[in-house]
Amino acid sequence: LWFTKGVGWIEAITGSMYSGKSEELIRRLKRAEFANQNIIAFKHSIDNRYDEKKVVSHSKNMIEAIPVSNVESMKKYVNEMENLDVVGIDEAQFFGQGIVEFVEELANSGKRVILAGLDQDFRGEPFHPMPELMAKAEYVDKFNAICVVCGNPASRTQRIIDGEPAYYDDPVIMVGAKDSYEARCRKCHIVKN
Ligand code: ADP
Ligand code: ZN
Repeated sequence: LWFTKGVGWIEAITGSMYSGKSEELIRRLKRAEFANQNIIAFKHSIDNRYDEKKVVSHSKNMIEAIPVSNVESMKKYVNEMENLDVVGIDEAQFFGQGIVEFVEELANSGKRVILAGLDQDFRGEPFHPMPELMAKAEYVDKFNAICVVCGNPASRTQRIIDGEPAYYDDPVIMVGAKDSYEARCRKCHIVKN
């Protein structure tokens, strides 16, 4: 990519869980730092799996990030920063439809926006607003993880509740149940009905 100051665009990094989205986001943000660009990184505050104030990949690579729960908070931080060049957002799928307009405004005002987010939910359905963000983005990279069942490329995220594949209609938050996620290919991905 060519970095011309003042020309904005959107990069979307997508794929299943464990596909390396956070790693790639961190890599790009660190390279922008090496280029002496002013960056700001956000993560959704739902996701504090390793650290409250950093984006941390499953392989423990990390970068400072501000935990936020909505688009309004991101706007506040962005407006307070002078000479901002690059905005990174992890778990972009959690911010709701309002993020689409927000990142468009950022790109229109000359910022480079780098988004990482799940393209599909555990059912294999499009995870909104990722499809909209991918459509608006100048650049889209879609990664696969490795299927933990068969070793093929994994495009999907398997949800497991108390050791069993989840049902299509299982609520997103199951109180008292042990919820976990695995990378799986199309063939090994199971959604019970
Ligand atoms: P994402 O943000 O897409 O969930 P991360 O960037 O956090 O992914 O983590 C990617 C890393 O996860 C890989 O580099 C690898 O070390 C680790 N990993 C663990 N399980 C798997 C798997 N099934 N397939 C691929 N990578 C995996
Ligand atoms: Zn498989």
